[in-house]
Amino acid sequence: MSVTVYEPDVLVANGVVTPRGRLAVDAAGRVVATPPGAAAIRLEGKALLPGLVNAHSHAFQRVIRGRAEHLARGKSADDFWSWRETMYAAATALDPDGVELASRQAFVEMALAGVTAVGEFHYVHHQSDGTPYSDVHELARRVVKAARDVGLRIRLLRVAYARAGFQVAANPRQRRFLDPDAATALERTASLRRALQGDGLVSVGLAPHSVRAVPREWLEAFGASKEEVVHLHVAEQPAEIAACLTEHGRRPVELLADTGLLKRGTTLVHAIHLEDRERSLVGRSGAGVCACPTTEANLGDGVVAADALLAEGVPLSLGSDSHATIGLLEEARRLEEHLRLVRGRRAVLDPGDGEPHGLSARLFDFASRGGARALGLPGGSLAVGDPADFFTVALPPGLTAPLEAAVFGHAAVRDVAVEGRFLVRDGVHPLAAPTAIAFSQLVSRLQP
Ligand SMILES: [Zn+2]
Repeated sequence: MSVTVYEPDVLVANGVVTPRGRLAVDAAGRVVATPPGAAAIRLEGKALLPGLVNAHSHAFQRVIRGRAEHLARGKSADDFWSWRETMYAAATALDPDGVELASRQAFVEMALAGVTAVGEFHYVHHQSDGTPYSDVHELARRVVKAARDVGLRIRLLRVAYARAGFQVAANPRQRRFLDPDAATALERTASLRRALQGDGLVSVGLAPHSVRAVPREWLEAFGASKEEVVHLHVAEQPAEIAACLTEHGRRPVELLADTGLLKRGTTLVHAIHLEDRERSLVGRSGAGVCACPTTEANLGDGVVAADALLAEGVPLSLGSDSHATIGLLEEARRLEEHLRLVRGRRAVLDPGDGEPHGLSARLFDFASRGGARALGLPGGSLAVGDPADFFTVALPPGLTAPLEAAVFGHAAVRDVAVEGRFLVRDGVHPLAAPTAIAFSQLVSRLQP
């Protein structure tokens, strides 16, 4: 079987940094042991690293980037909840072609930033009046098609959404998101999985939107289900905690523990406003946390206490969420930098082992292996037997350490491959230019 061998200036594989290391990829797109004496394709001036995994994305939200960064006329303050109305307006306006195009734009930008796999937290399911499409999976299929046209691996996390909130009047702008009951939500997740069978780079998971958007019976049904990859928004805003205490007499993480959802395979997105005992509960359960620092900063959510979570043994991953910007390496850097601002010191997440690249390696791991773990996907480390999902960066002048170059050095992404096949070569994705033109036209039609 034919094997392709790459030889960058520096290879990062299986947690080891090797100058002039070699990565061998077989015809099936797997990492294999380098055959002795094999000729290598030299990647001069580049470092080669495991592909980045974006564990939390709402691709369509790309259409509102830069359009909600001001106070509405007559308002003296803006917050998450008013931003959400802008986002709902976009969610209401997009037809299936628009959803696919906005998703393609977001996914192209991810590929250009070194992302090889994405977890798409997908909640726009139905027509604008809430009626399901003749194929109930129409929009999910469009999002998956966009990811596969770009070349990304995708876990479609199908969202279950029941209501506006506890004792909150129905919001007509949420009509496109709703399932009638938990059994239907589970059945639709299973039927979507069947519908997407056949492409090994596509998989499906379950995403109860939040403890605000589904009642306790739904959480219990999901906790008792066989769904193995479950993602939820948890404790993003203080109002959610207050509502949860009013409705259930306990905090969100406690409610998840009570309903069988706090376990290995579950990822809590954000998990910002937690108490110490909730972090201990998460740590003991095997569940993970996905931080989205650029979105959390943009929305004024707060800072994920990654240091306290790591002390409890909680595995971390990262997401670009609202796509205010798209770059997993920026998310990794800002996870650390937000904590520097809050704690008033440097190298907060350094593992403390005296290794000069310990902090960079740890942050990079959240952006690669941590994301793969959160999405239940293979790889993230380029070990022998893993899929050859990787990217290269141009080493900036004066910086030869690849992990520092990637996380703190603003190194430019040059090439991106999934299962050994290149989506991006020398900074170019073939769909980038045509998608940008069509996407610009879409956004100007939506918001003239
Ligand atoms: Zn989100």
